[in-house]
Amino acid sequence: MFKNTQDTYVLKAQNIILEMIATGQSLESVLEKITLEIQGIIPKTLSSIMLLNKERNTLENVIGPSLEKEYIQAINGQKIGPTAGSCGTAAFRKETVVVEDIETDPLWKDYRSLALTYGYRACYSIPILSSTEQVLGTFAIYYQEKRKPSRLELQLIEAFAHLASLTIEHKKTKEMLYRKEEQYRLVAENISDFIGIVNQYGFFEYTSQSHQTYLGYGPQELLGKRAFDFVHPDDVSNVEQAFMELVRTNLPQKVAYRFRHQTGKWIHLEGKGTPIKEQNGDVRRYVYVARDVSEQKYNEEKIYRLAYYDSLTDLPNEVLFQDHLTEALEAAKYKKNTLALLYIDINRFNSINDTWGRDYGNELLKLIAKRLTTFYKKVYRISGDEFVIMISDTSVKEIENSANTLIEAFDKPFSLGHHQLHLSISIGVSLYPDHGKVAGELVKNANIAVRFSKQRKTSHYQYFSYEMSHTIDKRMELENNLHQSIEREEFTLYYQPQIDIQTGKVIGSEALIRWNNTELGLVSPVDFIPIAEETGLIIPIGKWVLLEACKQQKKWLDEGNIPISISVNLSVQQFFQDDLILTVTEILKETDLDPQYLILEITETVVLKEIDQAIRKLEKLRAIGIKVALDDFGTGYSSLNYLKKLPIDIVKIDKSFLHDTNIDPKAQEILKTIILLIKQLGLKTLVEGVETEEHYNYLKELHCQVVQGFLFSAPVPSWKFSQLLKNNLI
Ligand code: C2E
Ligand code: MG
Ligand code: MG
Repeated sequence: MFKNTQDTYVLKAQNIILEMIATGQSLESVLEKITLEIQGIIPKTLSSIMLLNKERNTLENVIGPSLEKEYIQAINGQKIGPTAGSCGTAAFRKETVVVEDIETDPLWKDYRSLALTYGYRACYSIPILSSTEQVLGTFAIYYQEKRKPSRLELQLIEAFAHLASLTIEHKKTKEMLYRKEEQYRLVAENISDFIGIVNQYGFFEYTSQSHQTYLGYGPQELLGKRAFDFVHPDDVSNVEQAFMELVRTNLPQKVAYRFRHQTGKWIHLEGKGTPIKEQNGDVRRYVYVARDVSEQKYNEEKIYRLAYYDSLTDLPNEVLFQDHLTEALEAAKYKKNTLALLYIDINRFNSINDTWGRDYGNELLKLIAKRLTTFYKKVYRISGDEFVIMISDTSVKEIENSANTLIEAFDKPFSLGHHQLHLSISIGVSLYPDHGKVAGELVKNANIAVRFSKQRKTSHYQYFSYEMSHTIDKRMELENNLHQSIEREEFTLYYQPQIDIQTGKVIGSEALIRWNNTELGLVSPVDFIPIAEETGLIIPIGKWVLLEACKQQKKWLDEGNIPISISVNLSVQQFFQDDLILTVTEILKETDLDPQYLILEITETVVLKEIDQAIRKLEKLRAIGIKVALDDFGTGYSSLNYLKKLPIDIVKIDKSFLHDTNIDPKAQEILKTIILLIKQLGLKTLVEGVETEEHYNYLKELHCQVVQGFLFSAPVPSWKFSQLLKNNLI
């Protein structure tokens, strides 16, 4: 009966205590309740609980609501040991210690007087053990009389110690969990990465503080919203795919995407999604950690733009073109399609640059790029004034149309500054697979075609052919050899006499360059001078010619020959060199040649390019004492008008005029008039290409002054010309 009543009490107490635990009451209050409950069940007892301090190996935090305060203070921090009262010993032995008489029991020797002071005579203590048999504390019952506990009392004490153990363990796990959660929360809140949790439908269940700091959303703003709705439309399919993969495989997935900032701008994120496993192994939620890579993306894009786009025109550049062409060729190969390259070159662009300066040229290029892109979306700027268009899966008809569209696009002038510029273009077309199977070959061949197209000087398009390639190869060979020709001393000068028509005596020589190359043999200046001009090699070559001619002339004079003049040809580039006057003066000084014996020959192109500048330069040359001859008169624009303006001494009428007289009676009239006009301007006339006695007599009739031609001598080496001079007696 008694036992049953006690059981009911115990059950009741137990329920009260479990409820207290469940409702999250503090550890102290639950433990206190335990002590009070047992005191209620076993009358005349005082109960206490002490908790273990593992580090110090002591018992502390005494909970004993009915014990004397001073006593509690005194036993707080009690050592655990073999003779440390009931509790210290129970904790030490990990078993119940029953002390029936504190006064006599040796276990109490250190605390005896203290206990007796407060009237505590007997004490049973039981260790509170965890589920893994670790000591958590002790549970004790004090009596104020010597006493032996009944079996029932001991059972009760054990039951309550177990309750205390439950309470302490529960609190400890909760505390640990809380601490862990708190740690995670702190990490999530303080990290600059974005941490979020979404459910299996992609709806936000949690977002870290960083979403607010960096993406502008308030603490609750994203919760319950669909994550995909914040992803850039272009990235949604990528993100969805990664998410589906994550859901399907339950394996972490990485994905890069743009997330909409609260202000609407796009932030580049790079993230990883990981499944969250529930205790039963199910996955219903996913955690993702993402990082703001906007700056990195911005830098990458900047680098990409720098690498693949032309900064002046903003068009894709040669590097990107190569990439795209390789890709397009792969596709064409696979689909067995054609592919055409239209290589566009702006005619006379260099002269625009030379005349108005690079800045002007650059502005013009921008306009050109703009105009081209109004017709074609993708135009690549390959270099300077060269652009390319690529047409996949095309036909001859389409190429023709495209080329004509481009040509017509340039019909309208470009207005820049105060100018209305009429530009023309040359287009070279190469076709896959006919003109090449790989990118390099196609580009090279389109480029060759454009060079041929350029010969027309008006807008024109030209397909590549293999004959062109042969011609170009020959040219390339020349060019390569030309580079080394000066060091290898492969040049030499030949001299052709100029004859006074009245006396028949040699009054001058023209120095004409010859190139003797071991591989190519004797190369005509007609073939290599244009290349030297294009490559700029004409400058050192021209300088060498002038020096060599002056040296030779000085030598002939010093040898005591009758003084004659020497004519040296100047190319356009040489003429417009800033230091031309300086170079000429220095050479004259170096060779100690009297300037009166030197004639510089310039062509009409020099004059046409920049007449005012040309006049100023010619005046300077003449001021030194040098004479100037206008060479090949009549081959270019032959305007008699500008002859009046030019500060020159001699006009050399091109051989074609004389040769035409053989076949065309009208040409005789023309030549006659020209000679007359030149004479009227007070200039000396020289006719080139005199090959026959007939020519000679005819020119004599026309009162031409000087002649030059094979009739007297072809250009000859210096030693041979020396002989000619020896016989040139007045
Ligand atoms: P050019 O200055 O008009 O030289 C005259 C050219 O006519 C020479 O050709 C000469 O050999 C050729 N010739 C002379 N008499 C006759 C003739 O009776 N009949 C025919 N059919 N031709 C004749 P070459 O030496 O081949 O030079 C060709 C051109 O190369 C020169 O024409 C000149 O423009 C250029 N050139 C030659 N040497 C130099 C040089 O040192 N510097 C520069 N810039 N150009 C040069
Ligand atoms: Mg000449
Ligand atoms: Mg000439």
